[in-house]
Amino acid sequence: MKKKNFFAGPSVLPVEVLEEIKAQIVDYNGQGLSMIEASHRGGMFEEMYDECLLTLRRLMGIPEDYDVYFLGGGATLQFTMIPMNFLLPGSVADYAKTGSWANKAASDASKIGKVNAFFDDKEGNYTTLPDPKSVKPSEGASYLYLCSNETIGGIEWQDFPETGDVPLIADMSSDILSRPVDVSKFSMIYAGVQKNLGPAGATLIIMKRSMLDRRNENLTAYMDYGLHSKNKGLYNTPPVFSIWAVKLVLDWVEKNGGAEGMLKRAKEKSSLIYSVIDSSDFYRSPVDKRYRSRMNVVFRLPSEELEKKFVEESGKEGMLGLKGHRSVGGLRASLYNALPYDDVVALRDFMIEFERKNG
Ligand SMILES: *Cc1c(COP(=O)(O)O)cnc(C)c1O
Repeated sequence: MKKKNFFAGPSVLPVEVLEEIKAQIVDYNGQGLSMIEASHRGGMFEEMYDECLLTLRRLMGIPEDYDVYFLGGGATLQFTMIPMNFLLPGSVADYAKTGSWANKAASDASKIGKVNAFFDDKEGNYTTLPDPKSVKPSEGASYLYLCSNETIGGIEWQDFPETGDVPLIADMSSDILSRPVDVSKFSMIYAGVQKNLGPAGATLIIMKRSMLDRRNENLTAYMDYGLHSKNKGLYNTPPVFSIWAVKLVLDWVEKNGGAEGMLKRAKEKSSLIYSVIDSSDFYRSPVDKRYRSRMNVVFRLPSEELEKKFVEESGKEGMLGLKGHRSVGGLRASLYNALPYDDVVALRDFMIEFERKNG
């Protein structure tokens, strides 16, 4: 029986996509070759790749003057590439320190140039966000950086700040395509695909082409977005398998209502769990209610013993990945796009039953 997969990443994929990969893995569309043994300079790959990028442009409404491609190195490589390219000497980059992922990005950037952490919820243990309307970039900042959804802390920006002439850059690794986003507000969006878009290996880059005019000079080849832009993401061998799977996931998203459809699913699924938390004294959410994530629902039980028991017993019911990240403890249910509604109903029912027995 297929397990119920609440892992934070790598994470659940649509079963239809896994079946499609299985059916096509040896012989892609009767062409006598597997997609993962084909050259990335050949027609078979390129046709699939172009379609993948076009589908993504359609689903996210990405304007014509933006590049879209995939890199390797995980989302983590972008923590370095962004300041290397865009943090200009004599200028600052504004960072919202909102939890593990934004903080790692800020830390890497501070080794390359000057970082201004305009928000840092260290005192509150990273359970809230700044009001987007209150966010003002520094005068002449190179860019303003935020993480749209903190996968570990379970907080998500519901709206984004207006940054005027200062480019807005967002790490959307864990909530990409879970809702409609106005891409034109951002100069760059990136996402490791292994949360909401596919298997690990590729990082999606969406970048306004004019950003390239403001980048630093003398970058080494792979670190230079300009080179990737010029080569449409095919400067070196791209993560072919991951991209193929992303393409199939995008087709699945399109069949299931696109970004609007994903938002509807995300609201329905997350409210099943949050309503149990809110109607109970047994479960508790540490997160500011205004910014609770629809993708990663973080919650606590009255004791660590009970949390351990919850993980063990849910595991026996075929529910995997509910243990919170080792850095924060507690429990976390990741409810990415591909997670079936019925799996969340099963978790909800398990939570109610667990409270009845142990509350
Ligand atoms: C998982 C994650 C990362 C790191 O991704 P890697 O591909 O493992 O480098 C960065 N940012 C966010 C928001 C994440 O969820």
